Amino acid sequence: MIVIEKYNDSLHNPYWKFQLGPESYEIKDTPHRVETIKQALSNEADFQFFKARKFPERYIAKIHPYHDYIRNTALEMKEDEEFYPDLFPGEGAHLPKRVDSPLWGGIWCTDAVTPIKKKTYDVARASAESALTGAEMLHKGDADLVYALCRPSGHHAGPRVFGGYCYFNNAATAAEYLLPHGTVAIVDTDYHHGNGTQEFFQEVKSVFTSSIHCDPSNEYPYFWGYSEETGKGQGVGSNHNEPLPKGTGLPEYLEAVRRITTHIKEFNPSWLILSAGFDTHVDDPIGGFNLQTEDFFTIGKEFGALNLPILICQEGGYNLEVLGACVKNFLSGLKEAR
Ligand SMILES: [Zn+2]
Repeated sequence: MIVIEKYNDSLHNPYWKFQLGPESYEIKDTPHRVETIKQALSNEADFQFFKARKFPERYIAKIHPYHDYIRNTALEMKEDEEFYPDLFPGEGAHLPKRVDSPLWGGIWCTDAVTPIKKKTYDVARASAESALTGAEMLHKGDADLVYALCRPSGHHAGPRVFGGYCYFNNAATAAEYLLPHGTVAIVDTDYHHGNGTQEFFQEVKSVFTSSIHCDPSNEYPYFWGYSEETGKGQGVGSNHNEPLPKGTGLPEYLEAVRRITTHIKEFNPSWLILSAGFDTHVDDPIGGFNLQTEDFFTIGKEFGALNLPILICQEGGYNLEVLGACVKNFLSGLKEAR
C-alpha cells in the first residue's frame, strides 16, 4: 500500500493556548502523531512511502474562499506569534468589501481554537497536497489504495469557514480533483462529525457524503451531524449521518458501518475517500467511544470489501501509545478484504 508523507510536518506545532488559558491545556495535535504512525507503518514491508508533491495553489484556493486570508495572515506573523480569530460578525453584520487585516478572520472562521502562525499556510497547504498526490495516483491508476498522512486534519474546514483545528479540507480537495472524472463517496470515521466535508457537498449529487461520529448533541461540532441532515437541493439524499452515543463499542459501530456501505453500494462511486480518525479509540484523550486497537482491522475490512479504489486521509487520533497500531490495523484490514 502507498503511504503519502507530507514534506514539512514538524513545522506544525501550535500552542492552542486560547481555549483554556496558558499552561492549562496539553497540546494534543503534535508532530509526534505523524512520527508514531510512520514508525508503525515502516516496520511493515507492505507499506511504501512517497513524498507528497506540490500542486499549483489554485487546486486549494478555488474551493476555500479563505485561502488568501490564511496565506496573507501567516505572512504577517512573526516567529512564535499566534493569531486567533476572536471577533465573529454573526448573521446580518456589515462585512467589509476588502479584507486586509488579520482582525477580520472571524468572517472566515468558526472558533477561537484554530490559530494562524507563520508556517500555518505552508503546513495546511502541504497537508492538502498529500491528499491531492494520493488522488492523482488513484486517477492515473498508479495505485488503488493510498493513505495520505495528512496533518493538520481537514474535515471541519468547509466551503465558507475554517475551524476545529482544520484549515483546508484535505478530503474535499481530493474529491474536487477527482470529480471531473467520475463520482466520489466520502466516509468520515473520526469521532467528531465531518461538518466541513458535509457542507462542501450537501448540494452536489455526484458526491455521497457520510459520517459516523459521536452524537453532536453531546459533542463537537454540536450544530452539525444529526441524522435528519440528508443533503439539500439537488443533493437531497446524498448525505447520511450516523450519530452514535458515547460509549459505543464495536458491534453497534459495525452496524452503522454496514448501513453506510449499503448506501455506497447503491451509489456505486468511481472512488471512495475515507476521512479516517482514530479518536474513536477507548483510550483517546478527547474521544468517548469504546473501540479497541484490534477493532480497527475489522472496521477496515468492511470498507475494503467494497472493492473500490480508496484514498484514506488521516484526520484525528491523539493517543500516541496506540495511534500507530490503530492506523496500521485499519489499513491492513482494508487491504486484507480486497
Ligand atoms: Zn476528531
